[in-house]
Amino acid sequence: MSYDYDKVDVPADGEPVQVVDEENDELDIPETPIVPIIHGDGIGKDVGPAAQKVLSAAAEATGRDIAWMRVYAGESARERYDGENLPDDTVNAIDEFRVAIKGPLTTPVGAGFRSLNVALRQTLDFYANVRPTYYLDGVPSPMKKPEDMNMVTFRENTEDVYAGIEWEQGTEDVEKVRNFVEEEMGFDETMHDGPIGIGIKPITEKGSKRLVRKAIDYAIEHDRDKVTLVHKGNIMKFTEGQFSEWGMEVAEEEYPDDEVFAAPDSLWETQDDIDIPEGAVMVEERLADAMLQWMQLRTDEFDVLAMPNLNGDYLSDAAGAQIGGLGIAPGANFGDARVLAEPVHGSAPKRAGQDQANPTALILSGRLMFDYMGWKDAAELVRDAVEETISSGTVTYDLERNLEDAEKVSTTEFADTVIENIHDLA
Ligand code: NAP
Repeated sequence: MSYDYDKVDVPADGEPVQVVDEENDELDIPETPIVPIIHGDGIGKDVGPAAQKVLSAAAEATGRDIAWMRVYAGESARERYDGENLPDDTVNAIDEFRVAIKGPLTTPVGAGFRSLNVALRQTLDFYANVRPTYYLDGVPSPMKKPEDMNMVTFRENTEDVYAGIEWEQGTEDVEKVRNFVEEEMGFDETMHDGPIGIGIKPITEKGSKRLVRKAIDYAIEHDRDKVTLVHKGNIMKFTEGQFSEWGMEVAEEEYPDDEVFAAPDSLWETQDDIDIPEGAVMVEERLADAMLQWMQLRTDEFDVLAMPNLNGDYLSDAAGAQIGGLGIAPGANFGDARVLAEPVHGSAPKRAGQDQANPTALILSGRLMFDYMGWKDAAELVRDAVEETISSGTVTYDLERNLEDAEKVSTTEFADTVIENIHDLA
């Protein structure tokens, strides 16, 4: 595959990442890979360049280099591509070069298009949204023991109520769907009369199994003990309940018992009653509502979580709050042999262009990208340097307002301090 690019240049000093085995997620990463980057809208203009220079510094400090390829989406694309929000150049670059990173993109309310983020994830089939949630020393948190949190959430990214299959109240289509559901499917007592909006929640075997497989593979590769399937299958039996059944099938049928142990009865048993082979990753299930309280009350019991789209959206934000909030919460979207790293936060328009937003979330999203590339030393260096910076009291406004005796610095100054720490720690 090689695309022609209209308004962006492919860097001459880099080499493309090569796919070795798509199904098994194997890439060949050259020493100077070409990595597409979208700085993003709003605070993306601040945190994008800051994160880019930190990641370059970590790559160089570990004997590598990155040939960045600036691509555009949202406002920066509209300026260059006659009003287009997501030009082919951008989609093709992320498709071709396999490993990419993006800042936040604004979704204007009522602009007539779905979220650009959702469009990108769906077009390139980034089916797993992955968010590691761990505590960095020095970050203010509402919890008494925030350091107990060390979880990674795998959120299904392409289906569920986010698939966009819904009909607006007052339209002919919504009445057609109502009639079908009431008259042909026999749910005539279920819906109230009068205006109605209807949405469909598709959960497929393919979507569920590949997500759970990714979570289990991650747990094995990163020496994690447990994968928890989080669902509301007691109420939504044929969607959420089925997600869990398919997930358990993956655990039972695709891995040897001494490597992965499926515990389908875990919903109603305590863990002490389950006999797990030593060293095996246990796959258990929990109801989503209970999970939200356990996450706060028994934080250290959870490890890797896998769940449908909407549960993942709620739960990963709640988990992020426990370790200090949006400014530091990283994420990445994974497909087969492809990654698009992006922070959890949005474009925070009221903070945009003021060189004050916290670049940590985007920097740590880059750390996830490095980890996926097999650049484990660079990934750890980034984490250690960020932690060193924050724990020594050099922080952006969002953390400073909840800390005593911290020094408030700009986005640029924070990034420069992280780079100094990279040099000191390397
Ligand atoms: P947001 O952009 O995440 O910001 C909400 C608030 O969180 C900010 O006002 C700020 O709070 C704090 N915050 C977020 N990121 C921060 C950072 N890096 N440093 C410091 N503080 C940070 O959420 P939103 O205002 O609901 O959404 C704005 C736009 O972003 C919307 O168009 C939305 O669709 C889009 N969005 C995009 C993505 C994405 O690109 N993946 C994700 C979510 C939302 P204070 O001002 O109180 O300090």
